[in-house]
Amino acid sequence: MENNWKLETLAVQAGYTPGDGDARIAPIVQSTTYKYDNAQSVADLFDLKKAGFFYTRLANPTVDCFEKRIAALEGGVAAVALSSGQTANFSAIANIAKCGDHVVTIAALYGGTVSLFSNTMKKFGIEFTFVAPDASAAEIKAAFRPNTKALFCETLANPALIVADLELFAEIAHKNQVPLIVDNTFPTPALCRPFEFGADIVVHSSTKYIDGHATSVGGVVIEKGGFDWKCGKFPEFTDPDKSYHGTVYTRDFPETPFSVKLRVQLVRDLGFPMMPFNAFLTHLGVETLALRMERHSENALKLATFLKSHPQVGWVNYPGLEDSAENARVKKYMPKGASGVLTFGVKGGSAAGEKVMNALKLAAIAVHVADVRTCVLHPASMTHRQLSEAEQIAAGVSPDLIRVSVGIENIDDIIADFDQALKSSCC
Ligand code: PLP
Repeated sequence: MENNWKLETLAVQAGYTPGDGDARIAPIVQSTTYKYDNAQSVADLFDLKKAGFFYTRLANPTVDCFEKRIAALEGGVAAVALSSGQTANFSAIANIAKCGDHVVTIAALYGGTVSLFSNTMKKFGIEFTFVAPDASAAEIKAAFRPNTKALFCETLANPALIVADLELFAEIAHKNQVPLIVDNTFPTPALCRPFEFGADIVVHSSTKYIDGHATSVGGVVIEKGGFDWKCGKFPEFTDPDKSYHGTVYTRDFPETPFSVKLRVQLVRDLGFPMMPFNAFLTHLGVETLALRMERHSENALKLATFLKSHPQVGWVNYPGLEDSAENARVKKYMPKGASGVLTFGVKGGSAAGEKVMNALKLAAIAVHVADVRTCVLHPASMTHRQLSEAEQIAAGVSPDLIRVSVGIENIDDIIADFDQALKSSCC
């Protein structure tokens, strides 16, 4: 792999380099286990003295190809692929925070993440402070405590579509000697590479645009490398790990301490790796990522512009619109496009909105976002249903909000579908 290859090239070339006579496409190694000629080889693998595969719960060749490809796209040193975006968010935090620790998070988040942070991880003894997305730097700084271990945000919040001020958040995190963890699911590295703006860990629900075809639930955690784990706040990185025969992650794996620790502790003990067939499909999906994100962004901007001018539409939120409050940050952090998700409200509120959703023909009602086909969802009654009204508002979900995931179909057909649905549900 050439060091200076650009994203579009990495998307198809990184992660797998076939040798003479090898399969052109990274093969599916659908095997739980691997065969060795002598016991010492396996002992060396267990001791992490050499790289290789001994059990698919920890690592697998097909998954490894995908991990290398996505790490290259984000510009990180290593990646760990997991069974879902939820496990990716869980493990990115659980790898650095334990019972009694605290995390600051920007409140505009996917509903499942709010629930994970405020219920399940709370039960594990990790406390989260949710700060408003429009909080001032002073307010965010004030949320930090001596036991704070990370600052978390979504680059482009689902479904609030607020663009994170990554440089500011990185500065605040680093002043407090903690990493900035960024869920980059909506922009993907094709539109924004958070490491270039100071993030330390990037997380994805690869279920979304990374796969792009709605075939595989998956997640991935990517490490930038270079974070100062030795600053005194993270003894689990600098003290011998009793559960892994005294490994000291910063000493033994100075380039990739976060990823190695995540794999050999959390993935080993909790057992939530990405499966080889999902990795195969996701790895293949990534090949068209740059092209898809360009088209998703272009189509979303056109649909947002159409909806804005429609007399039955009360409001439209798409950060790519010039008059969006988010547009300045779009220009700074994702100048190639604002991704394919927009939200809007129909005049007449959620009942009128439901009629429009039911009348759509091309756009399907689906509990999904970010694949090639256009779909719609009503977060208040679906993805964010388990949240209280106050939590929904904090996450940017108003009762009438319809979320549209704009696909890569011809934009004329997408607009015609929304036009007929709005017309047929009028009065
Ligand atoms: N992060 C974001 C921004 C999401 O939108 C989602 C799911 O929609 C997740 C995380 C969770 O991912 P998964 O459904 O793959 O577990």
